[in-house]
Amino acid sequence: MKTKIPIAEPFLGEKEVTLVTEAVRSGWVSSKGKFISEFEDKFAKYCKIKHGVATTNGTSALHLALVTLGIGKGDEVLVPTLTFVSSANVVQYTGAKCVFVDSDPQYWCIDPKDIGKKITKRTKAIIPVHLYGHPCDMDLIMEIAREHDLYVIEDCAESHGALYKNRFTGSFGDISCYSFYGNKIITTGEGGMCLTNDDVLAEKLRILRDHGMDPKRKYWHTIVGFNYRMTNLQAAIGVAQMEKIERFVERKREIAALYNEEFKDIRVVSLPPEMTWAKNVYWMYSLLIHNDFGRDRDQLMEKLKDQNIETRPFFVPIHTMPHYNRGTRLPYAENLARRGINLPSGVTLTEADIERITSAVRSFIGHS
Ligand SMILES: *Cc1c(COP(=O)(O)O)cnc(C)c1O
Repeated sequence: MKTKIPIAEPFLGEKEVTLVTEAVRSGWVSSKGKFISEFEDKFAKYCKIKHGVATTNGTSALHLALVTLGIGKGDEVLVPTLTFVSSANVVQYTGAKCVFVDSDPQYWCIDPKDIGKKITKRTKAIIPVHLYGHPCDMDLIMEIAREHDLYVIEDCAESHGALYKNRFTGSFGDISCYSFYGNKIITTGEGGMCLTNDDVLAEKLRILRDHGMDPKRKYWHTIVGFNYRMTNLQAAIGVAQMEKIERFVERKREIAALYNEEFKDIRVVSLPPEMTWAKNVYWMYSLLIHNDFGRDRDQLMEKLKDQNIETRPFFVPIHTMPHYNRGTRLPYAENLARRGINLPSGVTLTEADIERITSAVRSFIGHS
């Protein structure tokens, strides 16, 4: 049996070992210690956003952002249905209602035209998700948000380094949220961050992250907060990863270019999109299998699994999950979800791995 090619594997180097060791030796293993603000500053600076507030994970970053903006019971929040489930769960945590939006069939992210149809008097916010590393159409989304007085919380868990019209994803909305889970573009093990250009929101994010404690008066709590603080150990890994983030993003794009070259002449699959206004970072390289091809996505996944190549189906649209299902149909997202597959996309992939994957796909399609 050939060695397993995983869907994504983090690259951790000597610098990570050195800085984590330094954090351990210093005794600062919880959420005080120099690496936390250093990681916040470096990541915020990279994204060209003023403030960084590091959190335990990406889900807590999103929840913190919603609470900071005052979202709660009686409110509605617009979320794309084709995303990882936590983009929607965080809305439920606040007591607000999730209203699901269809995908743009061309670039797979939240469809601005469908956003317009889902707005009611109770709508308070939109959570655009830059899916699989491709940016949302932020000009259209911000125009709708301004017109209806809505907050925008960008879910950038999959889009570190991605650009919309040459500006970083995450720099358009009120607050943007990142994940540093092990398969994300940079990792801290578990970890997340909120970024914002607004001084008042940054202060509020920090207070809510730390049990709602008054920064000027110890153990005086004026609001119900959370413990969503990142540890110094996580941040030490993050600081080391920041030295490599630009290389990781470029490697993701190189891997996508190698795949595209091999698949571009195959009529029965669509390559991942990159709109003229976008820099896609291809967090997960994805293909769509056409409906008129005799076999389907699941059969391709089986075939690759037999060759010890790990793949993933697209996310299952959240509006079809039992506890969210209200009988709505979102046809574009449902169609993409049935046909989409993620191929191995980690920065540790070798040229030989990519050759093995592309020949397996080509032979399944009948293009050897
Ligand atoms: C990974 C991910 C999250 C959640 O991040 P965690 O760090 O795993 O909590 C949220 N949204 C999207 C789109 C993700 O891909």
